[in-house]
Amino acid sequence: MYGFRDMEKINVVWFKRDLRLKDHAPLKHALEEGLPILLVYFVEPSLVRASQSNIRHWKFIYESLVDLNQSLAVVGGKIHLFHEEVIPAFEQIQQHYQLNKLFSHQETGIAITYQRDKEVKRFCQVNKVIWQEWQQNGVQRGRKNRKGWSAQWETFMNRSLENPAWEKGDFLNPDFSEISMMQKPLDWMKHSPFTLQQGGENRAHQYLKSFLEGRVENYSRFISKPEASRRSCSRLSPYLAWGNLSVRQVFQAAESLRKAGKCTGPIRNFQSRLRWHCHFIQKFEMEERMEFEPINQGFMDYGYEENPEWLKAWKMGKTGIPLVDACMRCLIQTGYVNFRMRAMLVSFLTHHLNLDWRAGADHLAQLFLDFEPGIHYPQLQMQAGVTGVNQVRIYNPIKQSGDHDPEGVFIKKWVPELASLPFPYFHEPWKTPPIEGQMAGFTLGDTYPFPIMDPEKAARLAREKIWKAQSLPDVKKEAKRILARHTLSLRWR
Ligand SMILES: Cc1cc2nc3c(=O)[nH]c(=O)nc-3n(C[C@H](O)[C@H](O)[C@H](O)COP(=O)(O)OP(=O)(O)OC[C@H]3O[C@@H](n4cnc5c(N)ncnc54)[C@H](O)[C@@H]3O)c2cc1C
Repeated sequence: MYGFRDMEKINVVWFKRDLRLKDHAPLKHALEEGLPILLVYFVEPSLVRASQSNIRHWKFIYESLVDLNQSLAVVGGKIHLFHEEVIPAFEQIQQHYQLNKLFSHQETGIAITYQRDKEVKRFCQVNKVIWQEWQQNGVQRGRKNRKGWSAQWETFMNRSLENPAWEKGDFLNPDFSEISMMQKPLDWMKHSPFTLQQGGENRAHQYLKSFLEGRVENYSRFISKPEASRRSCSRLSPYLAWGNLSVRQVFQAAESLRKAGKCTGPIRNFQSRLRWHCHFIQKFEMEERMEFEPINQGFMDYGYEENPEWLKAWKMGKTGIPLVDACMRCLIQTGYVNFRMRAMLVSFLTHHLNLDWRAGADHLAQLFLDFEPGIHYPQLQMQAGVTGVNQVRIYNPIKQSGDHDPEGVFIKKWVPELASLPFPYFHEPWKTPPIEGQMAGFTLGDTYPFPIMDPEKAARLAREKIWKAQSLPDVKKEAKRILARHTLSLRWR
């Protein structure tokens, strides 16, 4: 229909959340095919508009693409950027080329990308394009349960890296400017007012190197500390989420260190997190409705409050609970807090404030530079206690503050209104005696808000509510189903 006959036959490599050139099976196999190759990335307007999307993600993607194109220039390649939905972009490409095969990784994404993939499948069938997809990390498609999952995960992680042989490359570098608004995305994608980790494969390898060559030493020791973990944790999450690194690359680099007998304890601990990465995404792959509903259907009508004022206070870091506010403000500015603090933010939202986890899901997705749908939704639900199979943990934000930020270094950095308060009042400013407050120039309700609720009372009510729910027959029935479908047969080391 587009006059294919006279047009050059090509293969296309479609980059998505796999913005790297090493350990990239689709790229490797496309190079081995021998036909000319077009490398593409689509900045899909539907994804830019998605409720989880934030400029910080697109800036990271943009930086990654710039980095990749610098590396590709050496071998004569280039990733072409289309500010367009996938099908219309392919239709435009088809006006110039005959599409033979499409190479990409599988994507475990939000409903928008799931729908889009179904449309791409139909497009390929109608247009006789062969779409070859490769497994992304340790997430296996088409599973009904987890039998043998751990063993297959190990096998995948220990297999050789799929590094492309560049000398085989015949890359197409046409000028698409008349058919794709190529320049348009570049301008808005470049800017963000915040100081965030920079995207790019080269930058990702620097983080990996500095972690394994030194920072890993304190990995287990500081993993729960909001301030120290910023350095001692790997900080690889955005690089894994956007695919600047594969889980396998990171696993193998850690494994060689472990085999050399270096930092074996922390390395094992770290490697188990890499498994969790895939384990959570696998759950989402097998139950994608988790974006919208609790995995345990017994929690469908759990009975949350609607309180826009509390939700706003939580989103802005103005709840009057210092560690909660510090975490939220830090997230807004930097796109990162460690696992425990993320869990505490969700616990506070869903248990103390009794607000629906869905009310906070988009906000956190937008703030996390490492937003990964397959980790995000299952973790949100786990921390909200709506799975019926995990032990429910209601984090006490005052205790967390005393245990993990005893001197208030993190709190004072992100909530400077509390900087003048002496120990222990920056943990619980509402307990500041008048004389201490006066000397510090601090007035509760003026300098810093009153707590929006009584944390002790709220936790007690939440505990009663969740324990009651756990024993409901529907919740128990669903728990059995979830265990059969999502539980691993082997215990991880
Ligand atoms: C409510 C909530 C939402 C979350 N959303 C995301 C998200 O969107 N994207 C994301 O990457 N992580 C998410 N996490 C998991 C975890 O908090 C981050 O992966 C971790 O803090 C990233 O820091 P790091 O790279 O320094 O981790 P490290 O401790 O150095 O771990 C290495 C890697 O292992 C994986 N990992 C670590 N902890 C976990 C975990 N608990 N579950 C699954 N994978 C893990 C990550 O890929 C991480 O980069 C979420 C946690 C919670 C409680």
